[in-house]
Amino acid sequence: MAYKITLIPGDGIGPEVADATVRVLEATGVAIDWEKVELSASIIEKSGTSLPPHVLESIERTGIALKGPVTTPIAGGFKSVNVAIRKQLDLFANVRPVFTLPGLKTRFQDVNIDMVIFRENTEDLYSGLEHEVVKDVVESLKIITRYASIRIARYAFEYSKKNGRRKITAVHKANIMKLSDGLFIRCCREIATEYPEIAYNELIVDNASMQLVMRPETFDVLLLPNLYGDIVSDLAAGLVGGLGVVPGANMGENHAVFEAVHGSAPDIAGHGIANPTALMSSSILMLRHLGEGAAADRLQRALAKTFREGTHLTRDLGGSCGTNDFTDSVIHNL
Ligand code: NAD
Repeated sequence: MAYKITLIPGDGIGPEVADATVRVLEATGVAIDWEKVELSASIIEKSGTSLPPHVLESIERTGIALKGPVTTPIAGGFKSVNVAIRKQLDLFANVRPVFTLPGLKTRFQDVNIDMVIFRENTEDLYSGLEHEVVKDVVESLKIITRYASIRIARYAFEYSKKNGRRKITAVHKANIMKLSDGLFIRCCREIATEYPEIAYNELIVDNASMQLVMRPETFDVLLLPNLYGDIVSDLAAGLVGGLGVVPGANMGENHAVFEAVHGSAPDIAGHGIANPTALMSSSILMLRHLGEGAAADRLQRALAKTFREGTHLTRDLGGSCGTNDFTDSVIHNL
């Protein structure tokens, strides 16, 4: 029986990397019956709501989505549909594995980077609670709850236990935000005591950023509130080849949405040069979630072979190939 999965190509480079990913998934032989849902900045503008109901209805029906990026206007305009999907479906854990790709030349190619980022996905400064207090003075509310902090901490520790991860580093700014980040870090400490087999330490976010650049190989699992998680993910992506290669999963109790860390990349959209690795790797996380471990391993190996060969890389990785040629090479290596 085919899996019923929502496919949201998104906008910008979204449709290009989504097409490429659907092609490699087809080539793995895993039967998927896609429920395709159109979603873009222009559809949102026309619909007058930041989350058109047909999108939620589809994910609620299928329980799983593979999603491309969707543009969010900057400093004004509609609110982020990406944040809205995560909140509405209570996708509380954003999981982002960051690892060295074999054979890929980067500034950090001589060290083995292998970390998983756990970002709280529903609150913090993404609460969307902003207002103008008086003219030229605005307030954006940072919401941290014990409920959400305990939940993401437990998720990270459980994942680490199941997957043989040995050290969790909680990242915060509780020296300044003593109440909000203080609560987050107290919740992390509380859960850490339940998992004595997993080492636990804490770093202030500015120091963590420096250490990630200086000694990325020493990190195993990172546990962060929403905003730091978002920023540190892009920093970590820069260590292993950039946004074109880092996958992600938004996990809830009942639904899962798999999407790359990158956005809609308007600077390269429509040119057929986007790197589909990040969404392909997100689809590997999806295959594992479905219990299709063998297909996931095959696709992972095919990607690795394409990187090791180094002849079909996209431009962001120093190659000269387009999205389609790269995808053909991955399929050839399956
Ligand atoms: P971006 O991730 O879209 O692009 C940043 C840089 O990385 C650009 O130079 C881009 O060309 C490059 N890049 C990103 N993905 C690439 C890929 N697959 N292959 C090759 N190069 C790639 O970030 P941005 O420019 O800050 O944001 C653009 C839009 O995307 C904004 O509207 C933002 O809100 C949105 N966004 C959406 C999501 C999402 O849908 N989940 C996530 C992040 C940003």
